Amino acid sequence: EPLIKLTDVWKIYQMGEVEFAALRGINLEIYEGEFLVVLGPSGSGKSTLMNLLGCLDIPSEGTVYLNSEDISGFDESELARIRGQMIGFIFQSFNLLPTLRTEENVLLPMEFQEEDIQIARKKASYLLDIVGLSDKKHNLPSQLSGGQKQRVAIARSLAVNPPIILADEPTGNLDTKTGNYILEFLHGLHEREGKTVIVVTHDLDLVKYATRVVYIRDGEIEKIEKRTKSEPEE
Ligand code: ADP
Ligand code: ADP
Repeated sequence: EPLIKLTDVWKIYQMGEVEFAALRGINLEIYEGEFLVVLGPSGSGKSTLMNLLGCLDIPSEGTVYLNSEDISGFDESELARIRGQMIGFIFQSFNLLPTLRTEENVLLPMEFQEEDIQIARKKASYLLDIVGLSDKKHNLPSQLSGGQKQRVAIARSLAVNPPIILADEPTGNLDTKTGNYILEFLHGLHEREGKTVIVVTHDLDLVKYATRVVYIRDGEIEKIEKRTKSEPEE
């Protein structure tokens, strides 16, 4: 059984009188343990697709299944519950809360899950250690560099140990060193922890870790390429 399944999914945006179909009949099955890379030009529907995969939005037509459960008709509170259990986001638009310090930003999702505060603090400290930000625990987001903010977002996305990690341009706007760090980090989550990783990117360096590459154009899947470790991209 696929972890996520989309059948004939359409997303239609309504702007006053005008309708725009950002996704046009998407069929896609994603299995546990995949590292899926989504490529496509700007405006092709990648973010729209990620919003559906991340249970941030529901389709206009068609069906989205998560763990065989049809979530297409879910309301916002049902979607929020599923997100909290299943999905870690590394989205640039998923901004850190500007008034919360690094450690508090990481603690936030655990508070939603009503985790014991002592355990939560230990976990936050462990996660900040992993992303190399132990010394920035008390900084506000405005006192961090772009790469550091991205790493706080990673720590936060891992706080509730979700089986699915969604990343939207995780290496965008970062210097090469931080970008590589995040790339290797995502690879490790897949390789060592068996997480299902779905990444939208323009960064062709990420493609080398993909188990499949999905090419999107004009709201449709143009092609899907299967990858194996024995044929590295170079
Ligand atoms: P990508 O992430 O590949 O750049 P998007 O999924 O953001 O593409 O957008 C796909 C298309 O849908 C674009 O033409 C965009 O203008 C349109 N679109 C995205 N979001 C909205 C919205 N909220 N309202 C209307 N049109 C939208
Ligand atoms: P990067 O090359 O990663 O973008 P920056 O040059 O932005 O890094 O920042 C370098 C260092 O300065 C970082 O350790 C960051 O924590 C610190 N820093 C950046 N902006 C601020 C700020 N507004 N207040 C305090 N420290 C800052």
